[in-house]
Amino acid sequence: MECLRVKLYTPTGIFKNPLSIKGIEVYPLPPYSTIIGLIYRAMGRKWNGEYFQISIQGDYQAIYRDYVWFKKYDFKKKKLDKLPLQVPILYNLWLLIHIKASEELLKEIENGLKEPRELLFLSGGEYPVKVEEVKRVKCFEKFISEEDNITLSYHAYIPKEFKERISFSSTGEGILFSLSHFYKNSQKPKTYSWIDAYYFPKGTEIYGSIILDEDNHPVFLAQPEVAELKRAEEEYVRFYAGNWLMASACVGVLKVLENAGEDIERYVEEKSLNLPKELWQRLPELYAEYLLKDAQHTLRASYEKEKDKSKFNPYNVIILRSLGDFYKNSPFTNPTLSYITKVKGVSIENINQVKNQVKSSFMEGYKYFLSKTVETSQTCFFCHERQAKNYVDATTFTPLFASLETVRNFIWDPIPICKECEFLLYFASAGFYRSAGKYLFVYIPDDLLETYRLNLVLSTKEEIEQEKLGKVLSVVRYVLDLEKQKSSWVLQNIYFVEIEMVGDATANIYSFHISPNLASAIRKLIDKYPKNLQDIFSEFLFYIYTGRSLYEFLFLLLSGFFRKESYENLKDNTIDARIIRAGRTMRYLSPNLLFFINFQEVLNMKEQKDYIDRAFWAGRALKKLYNENERTQKKLEPLTYRLLEAVRRKDKEYFIHNLIRAYLEVEKEIPYFFKEALDDKNFSMIAYAFIIGLNSEEKTKAEEAIEETTNEGEITESA
Ligand SMILES: [Zn+2]
Repeated sequence: MECLRVKLYTPTGIFKNPLSIKGIEVYPLPPYSTIIGLIYRAMGRKWNGEYFQISIQGDYQAIYRDYVWFKKYDFKKKKLDKLPLQVPILYNLWLLIHIKASEELLKEIENGLKEPRELLFLSGGEYPVKVEEVKRVKCFEKFISEEDNITLSYHAYIPKEFKERISFSSTGEGILFSLSHFYKNSQKPKTYSWIDAYYFPKGTEIYGSIILDEDNHPVFLAQPEVAELKRAEEEYVRFYAGNWLMASACVGVLKVLENAGEDIERYVEEKSLNLPKELWQRLPELYAEYLLKDAQHTLRASYEKEKDKSKFNPYNVIILRSLGDFYKNSPFTNPTLSYITKVKGVSIENINQVKNQVKSSFMEGYKYFLSKTVETSQTCFFCHERQAKNYVDATTFTPLFASLETVRNFIWDPIPICKECEFLLYFASAGFYRSAGKYLFVYIPDDLLETYRLNLVLSTKEEIEQEKLGKVLSVVRYVLDLEKQKSSWVLQNIYFVEIEMVGDATANIYSFHISPNLASAIRKLIDKYPKNLQDIFSEFLFYIYTGRSLYEFLFLLLSGFFRKESYENLKDNTIDARIIRAGRTMRYLSPNLLFFINFQEVLNMKEQKDYIDRAFWAGRALKKLYNENERTQKKLEPLTYRLLEAVRRKDKEYFIHNLIRAYLEVEKEIPYFFKEALDDKNFSMIAYAFIIGLNSEEKTKAEEAIEETTNEGEITESA
């Protein structure tokens, strides 16, 4: 078989889908549709229904998390707003593409790429794409045994069907992405077909039945969709948990069905949710019952609190409170709608009657919801199947989408949605775990049932330990308890979405991914987290989940400790301010702070506990020498400040300069260990361990144990 091999280079690339807004779900390589688009631009013509197969691999030098300006047009203010959004950007990207097509088409593609008709770009990139190679290559299918396995030298998309033929060594199962592929139709409006492919990082070893080109590059050609399945007469309504938002909605539905006594496993298949038509029709009612299930107490309590009983509205107490944050001004939450205002002022005596009234208002809301449609001929973005009857806007999911009338997003065309998927999104609020103004959701891209189970772990309230350790960690723990092989797979695929409401209709959305390194660090070290710093455990989690350095964390903590006075009036309630405040409440530095250094080094894949301990003990020994006479004792504090300043500035020379002076002061030579170990890579690790040692108290183990328990008590009181 002959393929066309193409090598492309671009200095930067960002590959996203419409839900990538706020930095969530970007692709590690361009999706198929992006490359297909580039090929047709090179040929200078439009796609005309031809099918061909394509394989995408690539490599990049680094990923930057950077801010880009997204432009939004504000219709009310009639001006173009710029909105900074954090996105991962691939830097120095090389792509290795293989294309298989009929000879005629292949020739056309070859000529097009050799002499492109227009300047080629990849979406999101600021720079043009350079075509580095266009070459015909012979490809063969070969059976590779486990002993002779081959190592991927590029990151690769491997379509799902390859997994039956190829085995992968130890590195897990890859990360599943749903990727846009060909257009389904050539005329407007265009709709994509989608392909499920696993992303495997370079370095993965593979064996089995593999297609190789003449230079031994493996080729993973994606099969275009053959024919569309006829689903019209089916008795099921299908939903597809292909992104975190739809997955949270599906989890919400599963919770509602579980509450109604349904055997939910029957309705889930990989990442799709298949509801029998009859069950689908009952869903609005079941949802109302779910929201009202423990309403007695809440209704009575808030009725007692209401001074003007005629203003008491049980609908708002139950429904609006549950749905308000996510669906502002929707048919279910707009408090001015007549079927919502009409329950105002009802008597609370017969609680069942009140609940029925709320339920019937909810059902009227559903009817009104169904009547709100927009003329469109597009296919729904979420199910890729039914005809869209609306576009998503702020009422569909307020934290993510803007109102189409006031603010139009310039990056994406309006996202079309069918009525079924639109209603389903109202279940997202049941899918998220809610606590103190924050919402949390755990998502495993290709397993809806496991996603459901993990989210149940979030909402279990049995263990008191959980509050202490943080909800996220409880999920990680649960996963680690699963059989070993499965747990490494789940941990690599899992990610968390946290939504923090910061205003009426504005929210911060964070997402974090558990990398294999992080999983390994958690597994090895989490039990050693300092007990006296429980109060900032969630700040610690924020740092590690978002990939911020724990040396920055340590710097804030030590700054709080050393400069208690200068932070006396610190009022901010930011994450960083809370860490500084925790530093202020520490009474002495204990060796348990080395935990943060050890943790960071496991994350950096450099385990050098020996160096850390030696630097700590060198610090402590120097302190002892300084304390031997009053003259040098006074110099300890300024020395600490200078050393801390040196690490903040990452100025190794200044650090060493001060270190030499410090040892001269006590007439000692600088320990040889520093000459050997203090290089650029180890600088933060050794410097922080030394500073902690230099300021730590010498105490016996028993004293430390007592100190820790009392410390804990004190912190709780002052909090
Ligand atoms: Zn749909």
